[in-house]
Amino acid sequence: MKRSAAEVLACLRDHVDFLDETGAGFCLAGPERKPSPDAGATISTAPNPPASLQARMGPKAPAQPVSPPLAQPNEAAADAQDLGEIERQVLGCRLCPLHKLRTRAVPGEGSPSAELMFIGEGPGRDEDLQGRPFVGRAGQLLRKIIAAMTFREDEVYITNIVKCRPPENRVPHREEIETCLPYLVRQIELIKPKVIVTLGKTPTEHFVPGRAAMGDLRGKFGDYKGIPVMPTFHPSYLIRNEGNREIRRMVWEDMQKVMALLGRK
Ligand code: URA
Repeated sequence: MKRSAAEVLACLRDHVDFLDETGAGFCLAGPERKPSPDAGATISTAPNPPASLQARMGPKAPAQPVSPPLAQPNEAAADAQDLGEIERQVLGCRLCPLHKLRTRAVPGEGSPSAELMFIGEGPGRDEDLQGRPFVGRAGQLLRKIIAAMTFREDEVYITNIVKCRPPENRVPHREEIETCLPYLVRQIELIKPKVIVTLGKTPTEHFVPGRAAMGDLRGKFGDYKGIPVMPTFHPSYLIRNEGNREIRRMVWEDMQKVMALLGRK
């Protein structure tokens, strides 16, 4: 594809900027966002009744397994014929409580035939206001990384695992993710990217399941239905650890692997 000199220059400037900020050093494990309280199967247990009451109640019944609340079924997404239909469904979605707090839902944006797809956690304040993914500070950094990878923004696809902003940017709850996931699954089926990059722990947990920490998962391709998945640190983690060049270097190393797989290196 032919690029104008201005595009090449802009790309080069972003690339140099990013590389400039990328240095080798000693890796410091930075703070990670706490997993949501219900990310694992947490079962609440009521306090034991007093002994006098227990005697009158007779022998204790065996504990019943407590099922987590069911996610709302979301079958329409699977039938969507194109990204526009998914977008319309997302914009009108009321399947989980997050819709009540949103200003705008954020379906995602980019090329319907993107080779490269980025998946974040969920919209933040700026994204909720604008209805676009990754437009705040973390988004600006992500877009810089994309340019440094020699991709235009309209060549890739950027979205999130949940399409509405969780309050105070908390980690989305498991039921919210499960309810929203069919939109993302269908987006992936329609786009058929050659590589998926998961940004941070929340999307990575879904695409590369297991208990490993981000620091162990990053930089190694996982597999989602035959599509290579590269987990890397979330850009907001880079921002929170701004002075830590090693984290930037690791992200850049991960992205270079992605570029190599896509023949961009
Ligand atoms: N963080 C995310 O995970 N997604 C966005 O869209 C913005 C910030």
